[in-house]
Amino acid sequence: MRTAPPARYIGRFAPSPTGPLHAGSLVAALASWLDARAHDGLWLVRIEDVDTPRCFPGMDEHILQQLSACGLRPDQPPVWQSQRSALYQAALDTLVQQGLAYPCGCSRKEIETGLLESGHERARHGELIYPGTCRNGLKEKSARAWRLRTDIPKKNLPPAHIPPAQEAIYSIAINTLHWTDRRLGPQQQNVATAVGDFVLKRADGCYAYQLAVVVDDAEQGITDVLRGEDLTDNTARQIALQQALALPTPRYLHTPLVCGDNGEKLSKQNGASALDTHDPLAALNHAAHVLGLSEQSGTVGNALSAWTQHWRKHGPPLYNPAP
Ligand code: GLU
Repeated sequence: MRTAPPARYIGRFAPSPTGPLHAGSLVAALASWLDARAHDGLWLVRIEDVDTPRCFPGMDEHILQQLSACGLRPDQPPVWQSQRSALYQAALDTLVQQGLAYPCGCSRKEIETGLLESGHERARHGELIYPGTCRNGLKEKSARAWRLRTDIPKKNLPPAHIPPAQEAIYSIAINTLHWTDRRLGPQQQNVATAVGDFVLKRADGCYAYQLAVVVDDAEQGITDVLRGEDLTDNTARQIALQQALALPTPRYLHTPLVCGDNGEKLSKQNGASALDTHDPLAALNHAAHVLGLSEQSGTVGNALSAWTQHWRKHGPPLYNPAP
């Protein structure tokens, strides 16, 4: 009996050109590159410039140069999210047609007031949990953003035939999503109660990160997502969207974060300094240490192949070693 060959591993690194790569982002880049190499897979780079107001001109090329200086070169030409709006709109149209996405006319202020009036917690990680005001129509307001419905009660579904996508959302609404992170282990979140109806297209016309990333990961055939641990909390929303759009769910591995001298995680928002690629091996050794890999000397190429061999043999390191 012939069995289908396993899908080829395809991994990706997906930087936003909102600032240069820093020591923290190199950890995610190196981990995704090593995992792809260890699986004889493809490694892609996707420039996530969908949030145009936050992107800096030329930062995309700068990031690609920083990666290249560290020996991390994609196996296919990079793609830019800003050129893929048609894909995101098509996915949004599908969700709207299925009654799973709806226009919302609420301003931030109105959402805050609505939450306070209904006695709900105001914000979660600075994001407001939408109270569902526009679920049943805009009521004279004009559409600002578009949201995913996470609440569909079964009684609202057509009784004779429930389309699989609506069944998926119904199950998201009542069930907690469970998944296993390859480093962090079992994870769970109830998207409906923890996050609510999240935004797919923003009031400024930009497609939301959640929608773009889910559409792109599926369209590019990504089998494995490796990215920084600060993004772990997005995973349930992305799985919910994959289910609503009947798309496959990749495997996830969230990599350890790097903290600065003040103990806070390095991020572009808190002004992490740009990765110094004058000594790429030193930069790579620092990232490798965070991943639990031993220091290498010699050339960048030799270091990368030593770490690939280690990763191939032992799998991804599970623990963040003490600094
Ligand atoms: N573009 C995101 C960032 O730079 C990463 C998104 C992802 O890997 O899913 O933080």
